[in-house]
Amino acid sequence: MRMNFELIQLPYAQDALQPAISAETIGFHHGKHLQTYVQNLNALLPDTPYEDMSLEEIVTQSDGAIFNNAGQILNHNLYFTQFATPREGNKPTGRIGKAIDTQFGSFDAFKEEFEKKGTTLFGSGWVWLAADSEGKLHITQEANAGNPIRRGLKPLLTFDVWEHAYYLDYQNRRAAHLAALWQIVNWNEVERRYE
Ligand code: MN
Repeated sequence: MRMNFELIQLPYAQDALQPAISAETIGFHHGKHLQTYVQNLNALLPDTPYEDMSLEEIVTQSDGAIFNNAGQILNHNLYFTQFATPREGNKPTGRIGKAIDTQFGSFDAFKEEFEKKGTTLFGSGWVWLAADSEGKLHITQEANAGNPIRRGLKPLLTFDVWEHAYYLDYQNRRAAHLAALWQIVNWNEVERRYE
């Protein structure tokens, strides 16, 4: 019998990401939405082939309600741990910064493509920066609970485009929300995932 999955702790205070993301949004998004996915998955797993698997294994191998809840937990765990206090002129450095410049031409060109993939994703889902086994970068759109590990890619960075991620602060203005997120990306964490 496995231990239950637990709600991850935020590596910053609830108001640390303001004004990009308000304390109220973080409170609902982490404390209510993610908490519900954790409770749902723990209720669904007993007596299934997935009950002793890691989260990544479940996301790769399951479907239906188990996949939806496990995917949302993995996605949110990566999402909430990739942010830090807002910084003006925040941009990637090191190997990830170099890889972005090489592949997309510049950080600005990369941001433009990433935001476009986020604004053109119809309905709920996630836009991802992910790496293949050779270190090549890919931007992918994933519907609902999708994660690029199901394509054999390593997830590095993600923007959540479900309305619950931004509606309290931005209402229908998804593009404005996505543009504001660059100031809070913790590129050291993205670099760590890329290594
Ligand atoms: Mn979400």
